[in-house]
Amino acid sequence: MNALLQKAREGNPLGIDMIDIHGHIGRYAFAIPTLNVKSIVDSMNKLGIQKTICSHMHCMGQNAENGNEEVYKAIQAYPGRIEGYISIYPFSREHVEIVVKKWLKAGFVGIKLHNANGLPYTHPHLEPAYKIANQRYLPILFHTWGDEKEFEEIEEISSSYQNLSILMAHSGACKKEKYAEFALKHQNVYLDVTFSSAPAGLLEYFTERIGAQRIVWGSDVYFLNQAQQLGKVVGCNLSQQEKSLILYNNARQLLDRIQR
Ligand SMILES: [Zn+2]
Repeated sequence: MNALLQKAREGNPLGIDMIDIHGHIGRYAFAIPTLNVKSIVDSMNKLGIQKTICSHMHCMGQNAENGNEEVYKAIQAYPGRIEGYISIYPFSREHVEIVVKKWLKAGFVGIKLHNANGLPYTHPHLEPAYKIANQRYLPILFHTWGDEKEFEEIEEISSSYQNLSILMAHSGACKKEKYAEFALKHQNVYLDVTFSSAPAGLLEYFTERIGAQRIVWGSDVYFLNQAQQLGKVVGCNLSQQEKSLILYNNARQLLDRIQR
């Protein structure tokens, strides 16, 4: 058994740094055992996770601004432990620009976009968000689920705004080959392996195709348990160095690139 997995199974600290780049705050139609931010931080403390970068569930609709307010409260309650992605509903170009500038000033570290609102990622009203994010070298976490349209839209954004760190949420939940090819084609694309199940060999496959430097770990807390999501990295057949890249170094680098 590998050393990390053994430590995890014994319930001991892993002795490595970890950043969760895909967390959520807010109610949703999922069973959530404890609906408060403290439950996320308790889980982080138990597992030794330094930071969780969170967006609000309102990223899926028109209440995005209320969601950002709640994320801001969480950041203030747990400085340095909870970080925030800005959620955006593209009412107008002006609105988008105001929202992005306001929350970046308040300390948010990136943007989360979800297409459950029925709008394409290439919606013209989002342009100010991409421009500002590109100037600041921000990460943008895109919800994806293997849809062709998602790849086409994100390809356009990736090519136009090359300073962005583009995080493809739920990479490999389906069409793993397509995700790997997409990352190979676009050097600013990172594969976020947040996914409820843990298909055997998925992390090894991505590492072999694109290298461990562009794979990032997220949990979908608090819908999914961070321990369960961590297990798929800890237990996979990669070296400890590769696991550290996935669990920490790559995310650290994404955050360090940001120009404030
Ligand atoms: Zn999510």
